[in-house]
Amino acid sequence: MKYDTIVVGAGPAGSFTALKLAEQGLNVLLIDKQSRDRYKPCGGGMCTRCLKLVGEPPDEVTERKVTKETLYTKNKSFSVSCSESIGKKGIVVYRNKFDSWLIDRAEAKGVEILEKSKVDSIKINGKVTVKLEGGKEFESNLLVGAWGASSYLHKFINVAPPKYYTSISQELKLPPGLVEERFNEPEIFWDGNITTNGYFWIFPRKEGVNIGYMEQTTKAKGIKEKFIKIIQNHPIISQKLKGSEEMKINGRSLFGHRIAENYLDRFHGDHFVLVGEAGGLINSLTGEGIYYALKSAELAASIISEGEYSEKSLGRYTELCYSELIDNDLKYSAKMAKMMFGHKPQFHDRIMDAMLELTEENGEIKKIMESMFSSVEYGQIYNPLMSKKGLLIRKLGLLGVMKMISR
Ligand SMILES: Cc1cc2nc3c(=O)[nH]c(=O)nc-3n(C[C@H](O)[C@H](O)[C@H](O)COP(=O)(O)OP(=O)(O)OC[C@H]3O[C@@H](n4cnc5c(N)ncnc54)[C@H](O)[C@@H]3O)c2cc1C
Repeated sequence: MKYDTIVVGAGPAGSFTALKLAEQGLNVLLIDKQSRDRYKPCGGGMCTRCLKLVGEPPDEVTERKVTKETLYTKNKSFSVSCSESIGKKGIVVYRNKFDSWLIDRAEAKGVEILEKSKVDSIKINGKVTVKLEGGKEFESNLLVGAWGASSYLHKFINVAPPKYYTSISQELKLPPGLVEERFNEPEIFWDGNITTNGYFWIFPRKEGVNIGYMEQTTKAKGIKEKFIKIIQNHPIISQKLKGSEEMKINGRSLFGHRIAENYLDRFHGDHFVLVGEAGGLINSLTGEGIYYALKSAELAASIISEGEYSEKSLGRYTELCYSELIDNDLKYSAKMAKMMFGHKPQFHDRIMDAMLELTEENGEIKKIMESMFSSVEYGQIYNPLMSKKGLLIRKLGLLGVMKMISR
């Protein structure tokens, strides 16, 4: 057999797993249906913990260093300076450049790369056979499923895919100087007039901005019209984007994309593991997925290197995903998403305003809110916040808080 491992999907999860395995001397084939410079709809916001895993990308990959972030509610705003003291000095990237950088590094370590090659089916019976569209087949001892928010291949490994929700995004160009003047910081809008099931973002690039909107609903219908209305009519967003020009990428300017909503019960089986968004490893409150893709890749590589690929042996990988990514982090971001999303617009805005009033009034809440923008695990946000729910009850009333936390 030519390969120890075949990795399907060359996003951050797949290429980082491949890189780590090649560093351990394994023979790896990395397959993607697109080319490495493909455009991936993504804000490209990455916090320090990502950089700790992969290192600082070179200047030509880094669009912007994050120095400050601002959260807008309907009536208020809150800015956090990003310093090492709150554990954050992130960057913003274009994903085609960042993903290419990782794939190039994997290739330099000896990973064989197959681009523009769509995997059509997978068979596992003591060994792995991966078949491409067109019929070409490859064999290996192990499969790494890294195909992102696509549900087509899960059926071949007998795993139910995660649920997905909807997002839409766009790249805009701005005249020189205007990005610094108007933004120079990621900006997030949690405003009931926009949506009560997600948020709108503006992430500055070098010469423009990435804007987008995610909504935890499976109903994609009407999302484009809603997105355009927000850009044209929202009092702050419409002003900030004045004079911007749509960037066309492969003839398109608007990109709809699915985002996984829930992590799976297990991320392994006989002769396979799932990494990144293919396993639903993503923060369901914020949609942050790059860190979880990279960290699950590192965890998977540590288990794969032991050389045992039975379902029982690979079970250690699922255990690691739970202990390192879910039990203190993703479990709590999912709880917070349940608490925050899906209220009526007026109540949504009351919650957000109450949170920001408490941030102004109470030093401890301010620290908790600041850490929401940092690299901390969500258990370190949820639990301290819950210990302060008496303060929230004073703002929202007991019934209001019960309405939030009993969901
Ligand atoms: C609009 C939007 C904005 C986002 N913003 C951010 C952000 O700012 N920060 C952040 O951390 N996260 C963000 N995310 C989430 C983040 O993009 C993902 O969680 C992350 O890309 C997951 O990495 P991955 O490697 O698991 O999957 P992906 O990056 O999706 O890579 C999967 C790869 O698999 C390939 N593939 C799929 N099917 C096949 C097949 N059949 N055969 C061969 N190849 C296949 C695809 O071509 C793709 O290259 C955003 C997501 C969206 C949609």
